Amino acid sequence: MASAEVIKNYIDGKWRDSSSGRRIEVDDPSNGETIAVVAEAGPEEVELAVAAANRVFRDRVLIDMHPYDRGRMLFRVADVLESRSDEIATVNCIETGKALNFARDEVRTAVRYLRYYGGLADKLEGRSIPRGANLIDYTVRSPFGVSAQIVPWNGPLELTARSLACAIATGNSVVVKSPELAPLCGIEIARACETAGLPHGTVNVLTGYGQTAGQALIEHPDVRHIVFTGSLATGRRVLRAASERIVPCIMELGGKSAAVVYSDADLDAVVEAVPIGTFSNAGQNCNGLTRLLVDRTIADELLQKLKVRVEGLSIGPGRENCDLTPMISQKQRQGIEQACQTAISQGARLVTGGTTLSERSGYFMAATVFADVARDSSLFQKEVFGPVLAVTTFDDPAMAVELANDTDQGLAAGVFTQNLDQALWTADRLWAGQIYVNGWYVGGVETPFGGVKQSGYGREKGQEALDGYVQTRNVGIRISQPSSV
Ligand code: NAD
Repeated sequence: MASAEVIKNYIDGKWRDSSSGRRIEVDDPSNGETIAVVAEAGPEEVELAVAAANRVFRDRVLIDMHPYDRGRMLFRVADVLESRSDEIATVNCIETGKALNFARDEVRTAVRYLRYYGGLADKLEGRSIPRGANLIDYTVRSPFGVSAQIVPWNGPLELTARSLACAIATGNSVVVKSPELAPLCGIEIARACETAGLPHGTVNVLTGYGQTAGQALIEHPDVRHIVFTGSLATGRRVLRAASERIVPCIMELGGKSAAVVYSDADLDAVVEAVPIGTFSNAGQNCNGLTRLLVDRTIADELLQKLKVRVEGLSIGPGRENCDLTPMISQKQRQGIEQACQTAISQGARLVTGGTTLSERSGYFMAATVFADVARDSSLFQKEVFGPVLAVTTFDDPAMAVELANDTDQGLAAGVFTQNLDQALWTADRLWAGQIYVNGWYVGGVETPFGGVKQSGYGREKGQEALDGYVQTRNVGIRISQPSSV
């Protein structure tokens, strides 16, 4: 993949270099080598991209199009991505460091989002409201205009596809600010939009830093809608900018998701959920399984099984499909190492891991499990976004639920039990946007996803997502009865 070619921004249907001439080097996290160089978008590129998207909106290019045809545009983008699946999965694997099989899944998921929302484009309807003989009244579900979409690096292909698909299906035009650590997937989507023949300016993709291009984008007066997926700290900045111009936002933030494990749980199922839920993508998943709340009577047995399973994970680069792949950057890894030291200083017991794997050239961090994690400790309360599992025990179901809900986040939560009543009782009380029973990531493209509390608001995925991309307008008509009646 090494190439001297500078990858440009996709603006108004053209590939444009940055006016500043600045560059961003993209690393392979498994060895730190530069794999690509992209043109760094700045305020000038933001200006051009928003102007193009705003022109598409003002000229009603998407609004006046039959919704079926908007859907067909998304189908075409999906077809292009699918036809290049292997190549795009490799790009995703190498720039994010994740396992190739997960990167392949991500391409399939991105394709599914495009087809799912493409299929819904002509099914979003308003309603007619009865108001007596002299009035006709109906609602129109209208787009906002330019939708600015800020994407994180952990799932750059599918997260770009899902927001973009909703926006186009509903007639918004889009400016994507791709993540500086993994901008190549956004470029692949731009290429697919170009090949699929989307009208120029409908989708614009910028490769720039958050503090410059991202900030200029969220502050731009012609941006009328923001989708932000990322950390709480940046989310707050986005909301401050949005509040100045009263711009509606969809906020997809972090999590500290817990699974409750009752004494009757199938412990092998719990142990098998951890490599995927906690350690896939080096634990860099917003809805990852980060806390395990375990009935005290089975905690020792479960911890022993977990230790064996976790220490048996294969470690290596994503392209070798290893279980534990590198973290995205040295900085991210340092943060995790620091979080492990803090956990120990706050009394947690290290079961396995806890250190960087510095004998390897990339940004590898050991798969880490802590037991006896206190509820007021940082590891219990704060997202670390790395391969670290915190285990805490409980004595009864009420305590389990209380512990699960005792953080500021609420993205996902889960319960393991063979008792259906217990599962339903618990699922009803776990305060999170998505609940998993007897597994992890038991959701899909068609199931609504998003946070409660500080994990955000608005929903992505599922039919509910479309509600966040339209605003209801109402039309009232006074009519007269014919004079002969
Ligand atoms: P981040 O907040 O650092 O960056 C996210 C994006 O925001 C990047 O594109 C970045 O360039 C941009 N950004 C940074 N500063 C900005 C600013 N001032 N103005 C505008 N944009 C700015 O997050 P990250 O480290 O890339 O991603 C990890 C976080 O994302 C974790 O907290 C994770 O839980 C969360 N996440 C949430 C979901 C979800 O669906 N809820 C999905 C994936 C990741």
